[in-house]
Formats: sequence, C-alpha cells, structure tokens
Amino acid sequence: MKTITHHIPDPMLAAYAAGTLPHAFEVVVATHVSMCDTCRVSLEAHQAVGGAILESAAASDLSDGMKSGVMALLDQSIDDQQPAPKRAGIYPGPVMQALRNKAPRWKSLGFGVRQSILSDGPDGSLRLLHIPPGRAVPDHGHNGMELTLVLQGSFHDETGTFGVGDLEIADEDLEHTPIAVEGDPCICLAATDAPLRFRTFMPRVLQPLFRI
Ligand SMILES: [Zn+2]
Repeated sequence: MKTITHHIPDPMLAAYAAGTLPHAFEVVVATHVSMCDTCRVSLEAHQAVGGAILESAAASDLSDGMKSGVMALLDQSIDDQQPAPKRAGIYPGPVMQALRNKAPRWKSLGFGVRQSILSDGPDGSLRLLHIPPGRAVPDHGHNGMELTLVLQGSFHDETGTFGVGDLEIADEDLEHTPIAVEGDPCICLAATDAPLRFRTFMPRVLQPLFRI
C-alpha cells in the first residue's frame, strides 16, 4: 500500500480520544486509524495521557486519607461508564467491514459520479463517493466542515494529491474540485457536520487547525 501522507490533525485525534467528535467524523477518524499505523500510535498516546493526567491530578493535591477516597471514587466513576468509551480497537474499520458484507446503494450525482448515503442526521452526514477515472466531483459547497478519506484509487485537487488512506479536511472557505486520477475509480468516505454542530464544535477543535 502507498504511504499515507495526509493524516488526522492532532487536535482532532485528541477530540476523538475524548469522545467529543460528531458521529460521522468519528467514523472517518476510526477508519483512517484502522488504516494508519502513525495515527494509531498517536491516538494510543492521547488515550494514555488522558488517564495519567487524571491520576496525577488526583494524587498530588491530596492527603493520604483523601487520596484513597478519591481514587476509589475515580475507580467507581470509571466502572460506571458502561458501555466503555469508544476506542479505536472497537472500530476496526467499520466502513470497510460493512462494505464487505453489503454492496452500497449508489445514486447518480451526474457525470458518472455516484454517491451512497450511509447516515444522515442532525449530527452530520456520512456518504461514499464513487468517482470514475478523470472525472470531477460536481460542484459542492461545504456547509460546515468536510472530511474526505480515500478508500480506493486517488484524487487530486487544488491542495494536492490524495491516495488510499489519505484524509482531506475542507472547510467552507475551501473551493476545491476533486478529480479522480487515471486508473481505478476513486472511492471516498466523506463526512460533513451539520451547520449548527459546526458552530459549537469549531471554537474548541478547529481553531488550532484553521487559526480562525
Ligand atoms: Zn494517519
């Protein structure tokens, strides 16, 4: 497999580890992590650091008697979190598995490009795009933020070339025209967040990405 060059930005991995990403983004991140050793290692570091900070904060400011009480509370609150928070290991490439089990239902977008909606709700939408070689995705505005992960083939646009496993992040300011490279049809997993969600989500997670 070609080396992955476009990865998940660190703040987004941290948000994924904390369980605060919209569902559609969560699926894209999980799918990329299932394909990418680099991001898997980073994600595991985030998950480990999250636990360590909790323990050291609890241990440093407290007397011995308090410590055991607080640790017991922490243990209890961790036990109470059932089912356990989503982890990369629980999501071993969900979309890839789903595709193996069931062929997607494609709808034409024109010019040979097809899409298959996997989920669509107040939390954003998740869809597959099928782009024949040499064809471009028809004009599409970004109502918020869009993550595009390449599952097969590759595409290029104004910002670069994206091959299998590569993730492109586009916001509403980016006007881009993805064109599938010659060879296999390009199949992408694309997630968009709903505009409302975008506004609450952006200040926390996107500022480091786009410096807005
Ligand atoms: Zn990666």
